[in-house]
Amino acid sequence: MPWAYLPHSAKVDFALLIAGIKPNLRVILDHPAEVYSPLKNLLKSHIVHNHNDVLYIADNLEVVRKLVKIDNDHMPHEIEFGCLLGYPKCCSEKIKVIGESDIDTYNDDFNQKVERFSLLDISLYNHGIGLISHVPCSIDCEPSLRQAHQFYQSLRITVGSKKFCVWRNEIINYFSQNEYNHPYKIEKVFRR
Ligand SMILES: [Zn+2]
Repeated sequence: MPWAYLPHSAKVDFALLIAGIKPNLRVILDHPAEVYSPLKNLLKSHIVHNHNDVLYIADNLEVVRKLVKIDNDHMPHEIEFGCLLGYPKCCSEKIKVIGESDIDTYNDDFNQKVERFSLLDISLYNHGIGLISHVPCSIDCEPSLRQAHQFYQSLRITVGSKKFCVWRNEIINYFSQNEYNHPYKIEKVFRR
């Protein structure tokens, strides 16, 4: 697997895809030649398409075409694009209000506010550690918390197997530093 040639954040993205939490992927490629063919051979269940060194992955061609079209359109499509990439609607709506050009500032603000090691901590996403692949609309966004929780649980279930083994332990070790991420405590939060 050409992990060395992919951005670190792609580890989180691919694991979310494999866990069935993220329906489709979009990854910017710095080294398209090293990544495209190996990935195409590996991900037989998905269409892997390279358009101008941006990789689009979906389980059918129609969705790939839609992703490419929206991504290359000059009109804003935050909600539709976010929905195709599996982001909660509330978070896509927030990004629409903030505007494409201010996303980085919003991301920085979010990282200042969010508690370290909590489920929505995306401060190390660019280093391959995170439980979601979007900037949530708030530090207690419930759909984001559910996604993060579902992913964390699927990672914990796979401990000992080869699934996600490249990055699983790093992510589990990081998030297990927060005692509130212990499974029974999380269950309590979601049962309220
Ligand atoms: Zn949200």
